Amino acid sequence: MIPFTGSPLDRASEKRTDADWVAAKRRDPNSYILPMWRLQPFIIGPEKAQPPLELGLLRPGLAEALAAPDAPCVFLGLEGDKAMFAIDISAARDPVSEGPLAGFGHFRDARAAGAMLPAKDAAIMGQAKAMIDWHNRHGFCANCGAKSELADAGWKRYCAACKTEHFPRTDPVVIMLGVHDGACLVGRNKRFPGNFYSALAGFMEPGESIEEAVRRELMEEVNLKVGKVHYHATQPWPFPSSLMIGCLAEAESRDFKPDGEEIADAMWVDRDKARRLIAGERFDDISVPPAIAIAHHLIKAFAEGLF
Ligand SMILES: [Zn+2]
Repeated sequence: MIPFTGSPLDRASEKRTDADWVAAKRRDPNSYILPMWRLQPFIIGPEKAQPPLELGLLRPGLAEALAAPDAPCVFLGLEGDKAMFAIDISAARDPVSEGPLAGFGHFRDARAAGAMLPAKDAAIMGQAKAMIDWHNRHGFCANCGAKSELADAGWKRYCAACKTEHFPRTDPVVIMLGVHDGACLVGRNKRFPGNFYSALAGFMEPGESIEEAVRRELMEEVNLKVGKVHYHATQPWPFPSSLMIGCLAEAESRDFKPDGEEIADAMWVDRDKARRLIAGERFDDISVPPAIAIAHHLIKAFAEGLF
């Protein structure tokens, strides 16, 4: 399964507008609340805990005192009849060592936690991270500039000044491997360390189809001409709010030329080497992304015989 997918929660979107129901669930002793501190999830146990980590889902009443009065609290969904929320407690100075959570656990970088939590908890945490992050960055109305307020259990922001509604964003990103005659093309971003190669990627632009964005990005970044584009899988990527759309694209030839701006280098990797890289074998000239990234799963799909 692709990390950050597979949430067990029923998002129960029809309940979000029922303020009484939401308020009752926030107090219900059967509900769970995940504290997020400066975009890091609460994790039960010490920092040296080994994976799988335990996500810090708490009963109502424990963490709320740490949150500022207007801090975002988002209804994530239902697991059976148990409601799950995420609350932003960034106002707390040091919740690991003082206050009601002290001694129970720690806060961990969301990306690192995503790789160390059980799959279903990583998906819940990713949803929480994306939502809290969105609220933190969208406090003001994009239409008139007035302060907006949280509504619908966190699934909307409302501007009372101009009556505009704002909804959480998901930004589509195409991520792809060019493929040609038993090899796939991976690139090294200028920001990547030494031998780290990955699938190429870029934000979709307004007015583009997925196929067109894939062709444009491959042309811009490595001057690779591709024809048919094949969708493989998607991944919600909450850093901060992307949807990664994984594709394979049939290249017309092996000719490419890195742009030198964003992409420092690229190389064709044949299927056998792709298989060995995914199996964890080490090479001097290339390493590939870990399993938390969809790029890993694209290379794996290619290694296993897709194209
Ligand atoms: Zn407004």
